[in-house]
Amino acid sequence: MPELPEVETTRRGLAMRLEGRRIARIEARRADLRFPLPKDFAATIRGRRVEALDRRAKYILVRLEGGLVWLIHLGMSGRMVLRSGWPNDIGAHDHVIFATDEGWAVTFNDARRFGMMDLVPADRLEQHRLLACLGPEPLSDDFTPAVLQAALAGKRTPMKAALLDQTVVAGLGNIYVCEALFRAGISPRRLAGTVRPERLARLVPAIKKVLLEAVEAGGSSLRDYVQSDGELGYFQTRFRVYDREGQPCTACRRPVKRIVQSGRSTFYCGTCQK
Ligand code: ZN
Repeated sequence: MPELPEVETTRRGLAMRLEGRRIARIEARRADLRFPLPKDFAATIRGRRVEALDRRAKYILVRLEGGLVWLIHLGMSGRMVLRSGWPNDIGAHDHVIFATDEGWAVTFNDARRFGMMDLVPADRLEQHRLLACLGPEPLSDDFTPAVLQAALAGKRTPMKAALLDQTVVAGLGNIYVCEALFRAGISPRRLAGTVRPERLARLVPAIKKVLLEAVEAGGSSLRDYVQSDGELGYFQTRFRVYDREGQPCTACRRPVKRIVQSGRSTFYCGTCQK
């Protein structure tokens, strides 16, 4: 599943070809993704200039001229493939295809169809049903230890679940929660409301650091990718605990543990994380 760094890398890759350009051609090859596409979806976008590409949590915000935002979520399996020229090998899972006036074409491919697209007036974006409840953006200055402490106060859920709660902090997923808790030395099983402020003061910079390192890795992948047409947003990153069950902890050499929390795998070191 694309996590925040993959979405950010996809946003940057799209921005390189879309910003300042006009959407000259767009085809929606079905009427729905996870949700129905808005009425007159393709006709509303066609001909508009792309002013900027932003991101909120794992949503890509394509800001179109005329005060309209094209909201995109990649879901579980969505990917954007960029190539020069309209594709002539359109597959069953290529649901939305569009091209700029310069001739760059983007294919949104989503085999599982948990992705979504919507059109929202820019002045109503923050009230959109999917964005209204989101907590602070983890890489923004709004996300501080004091803000996290207030959000976790009294919470009887484990830290792992609390950090996956999008109202606490927006856009964090399974991988980067595991990695950040490891770097901060906090057990994923510890009840959120019981973590002391000085430990949250280590956790907030750890979250920003794991995300930024991955965003940088994504940025390097984009530089390679610019040479050739292809798929945006996927790149190699090395994890310290994620998906390393039984392998030695990078700090104490004891085996990394895996447990299941809220139906999802948690990886952690029972010695380094308390
Ligand atoms: Zn360890």
